[in-house]
Amino acid sequence: MTTLEICNARGLDGAPLAVRVEHGRIAAIGPALPPPTPAEVVVHRIDARGALLMPGLVESHTHLDKTTWGMPWYVNECGSRLIDRIDNERAWRAASGHDAGAASLALARAFLAAGTTRLRTHVDIDTEAGLRHLDGVLATRETLSDRLDMQIVAFPQSGVLDRAGTVDLLDASLARGADVLGWLDPCAIDRDPRASLDAMFALADKHGCPVDIHLHEPGEMGVFSFELMLERVAALGMQGKVVVSHAFCLGELDAACADALLARLADAGVALITTAPPSRVVPPLMACRRAGVPLAGGNDGIRDTWTPYGSPDMLERAMMIGLRYNLRRDDELDIALDCVTHQGARACRFEDYGLHVGARADLVLVDAINAAQAIVTRAPRRWVVANGHVVVSEGVAV
Ligand SMILES: [Zn+2]
Repeated sequence: MTTLEICNARGLDGAPLAVRVEHGRIAAIGPALPPPTPAEVVVHRIDARGALLMPGLVESHTHLDKTTWGMPWYVNECGSRLIDRIDNERAWRAASGHDAGAASLALARAFLAAGTTRLRTHVDIDTEAGLRHLDGVLATRETLSDRLDMQIVAFPQSGVLDRAGTVDLLDASLARGADVLGWLDPCAIDRDPRASLDAMFALADKHGCPVDIHLHEPGEMGVFSFELMLERVAALGMQGKVVVSHAFCLGELDAACADALLARLADAGVALITTAPPSRVVPPLMACRRAGVPLAGGNDGIRDTWTPYGSPDMLERAMMIGLRYNLRRDDELDIALDCVTHQGARACRFEDYGLHVGARADLVLVDAINAAQAIVTRAPRRWVVANGHVVVSEGVAV
C-alpha cells in the first residue's frame, strides 16, 4: 500500500497537524499519526516545517474556455453594456480562432499549481460555436482527471429564446458530458422570464441535472426572477439543485426584504456565488450565513474579452471578498477563506470535501500563520496535494 505522510504542519487554529494519505484519501489526520502498519509503505514523506495546512481551494465560478491566460495581451475596446460584451466576445472568438481546449488547459493547470483542486467552469454553448468549446474543455477535464475535480456548466452566453437551436445544443451538451445546465437573465436577456425559466427547468428536469444561472438583473427585476425560480423549484422538487451566480439584486434590498427572500432561498436549498466585484452591489454575506444560504466565491472570467482582471489564485479572490465585505479582523478573514473552500464545496456539491478521514486528499500548505495572513499575502503555495498526488513540492509545480 502506498502512502503519503505530511508531518509538522499546523491547522487553521494553529495546532500541530499531520496527515496520512492512502489511495487518494485522507486515511488519518491529527496532532500526531499512529505508526504505519507493516502493510503500509510510506513512499513520500513531507516535513511541512510549520506550514499552514488548508483544504484544497474551490473555484465555484469561472470560464476556462474564454480566457487569454498565457496568450498575448487582449486590448479591450468593448462597449459598456452587457449585450456589447456578449456581441464583442462572439465576434472576437470567430475572428481569432480561439482554441478553447488549449486555453482551458493552460488556465486549469495554473489553478492547480495555486492549490485549486475543485473547480466549476461555465462553457459557452451557442449557435455559432456549437459544442466546440465544450469539446475543448472536456479534453482538459480528461487530461487532468486524476488531479482536478472539474464540473462543467453548459452555458448559453448569448441567451436562449432569441436563438433558435440553443436548447437543442444545451440538450446535446448535457448528453455529451456537461454536469450542470447554465442559464442567463430570463428578463433582461431572454425578455420573457416565464418562457425562459420554463425552458431551463424542463431541460434540467429531463437530465436530472442541477442548474446554475447568471443573474445580473438589478432590483425588482432580479427579485421577480427569483420568485419565478422559487415557484418552479417547488413544483419540480428541485430543492438543493439550484445555484444563482452574481445575484446583485439581493444587495439592493433593505435588510428585512433581503432576510425574507434569503429564508425562502434557504428552504429551497438555493446557493449563491459571488465574485465580490468592487463595481457592483453584492449579496449580503453575513445575512446569507445567518440564513444558512451558502455564499461561495468565484473569479468569473479571467483575462478574457470581458475583463482584464482575475487570476487563478483563490486566495486572491478571498482577498477581494475581504475587501468588498470590509472583513478586517483575522477571524473575519476566516470567513473569506470559507467562501473559497467549504462554501464552494457546499454550493457546487463537490463530494468528500474537507480535512477529515475519508475525504479526498486535497491539501494546500502555505507559509502563513493563519488564514488572514495567507489571504492578504497570497502566501506562496509550498506544497499542493490534489487527489493524493503531489502537484507542487517545495514551491515548484511538479
Ligand atoms: Zn460567469
